[in-house]
Amino acid sequence: MAKEKKGVRLDHISKIYKDPKTGKDFYAVKDANLEIEPGSFVTLLGPSGCGKTTTLRMIAGFESPDEGEIYLGNEPINALTPNKRDTAMVFQSYALLPHYNIFDNVAYGLKLRKMDKNVIKKKVTDILSLVGLEGMENRMTNQLSGGQQQRVALARALVIEPGVLLFDEPLSNLDAKLRVSMRTEIRRIQQEAGITAIYVTHDQSEAMAISDKVIIMNKGNVEQISTPQEAYYYPNNKFVADFIGEANFLKGKVKAQDVVEINGADVKCATGSMQAGAECNVVLRPEGASLSDKGSIKGKVMYSCFMGAYQDYHVLIGDTLVKIQEYNPKNSKIYKVGDEAYLNFEDNTLYAL
Ligand code: ADP
Ligand code: MG
Repeated sequence: MAKEKKGVRLDHISKIYKDPKTGKDFYAVKDANLEIEPGSFVTLLGPSGCGKTTTLRMIAGFESPDEGEIYLGNEPINALTPNKRDTAMVFQSYALLPHYNIFDNVAYGLKLRKMDKNVIKKKVTDILSLVGLEGMENRMTNQLSGGQQQRVALARALVIEPGVLLFDEPLSNLDAKLRVSMRTEIRRIQQEAGITAIYVTHDQSEAMAISDKVIIMNKGNVEQISTPQEAYYYPNNKFVADFIGEANFLKGKVKAQDVVEINGADVKCATGSMQAGAECNVVLRPEGASLSDKGSIKGKVMYSCFMGAYQDYHVLIGDTLVKIQEYNPKNSKIYKVGDEAYLNFEDNTLYAL
């Protein structure tokens, strides 16, 4: 549907703002280098205030970078106003025209471009069927549910066939259940339209569910660019490990390649390029360990709770409280508060930072 899928490249992009409280300049985005493949779905992910919206608005042209250059395809676009860029944005607030019907809301951008009436009719009809609103042309937008309004906003952005579609937390105003179904819809529509999408969210499960790649940001810095799987299994640092999913950090010491000593016991753990003798943090996901009567790392159960899908434990190892989720606990021994138990790890679960 899109004329041409376009890639986006940020080359040493920075944005400096003045902090209204201190009056001092700070980097809202610092030296961001990213490359977004044509046709891919990429998410800017990070806590509130980390610079996601600022990055997106620089790509859209609503803000201009203080350093660096942005490319759309091969074209440098810093000097172009938003309407001269081949991008369209879907906002959290929808920003629909309230006294217009669905057809006129979606057709608006095409009429501005002075397109032929029949062409407009065909394009709007096609797009409405893509977003699941076929036959609803005459409904007024102020009579629609939040989810339907979001679909209209999406149709309005798609109908002008931009090279890149930008989303800023588009599902924040919807209830939890609708958020989950709409994100699957957005992914389907992006794939069917074959368009490049850049999506901002602070919700890590939303990012994991829809993205080919995640760009994880913290305090204006890009911390990791990778697939969701890589970010989960091989986080670049503690921030990423903690932000994507839940993580325990066990204090360890590298003994040899892929062997780490934790609390007096040697265990298998990916050590990458770390040298023997180095102190490290071992990342353990809650589902990466189980409890048994035998093993090398001994602990004491401080909390034990049945959650249905899993048994939730807190186990004290040395002076570190470790969270364990043992899935499908029906056929395994359940440990009680005060019990001693040993941690057992599946192969390839431990990763040293
Ligand atoms: P996010 O979208 O990740 O929540 P933003 O990109 O909106 O973060 O903001 C990044 C930082 O820049 C925050 O500290 C925010 O308060 C600040 N900021 C955003 N816009 C402005 C502005 N126009 N002037 C000054 N500071 C701003
Ligand atoms: Mg934001």
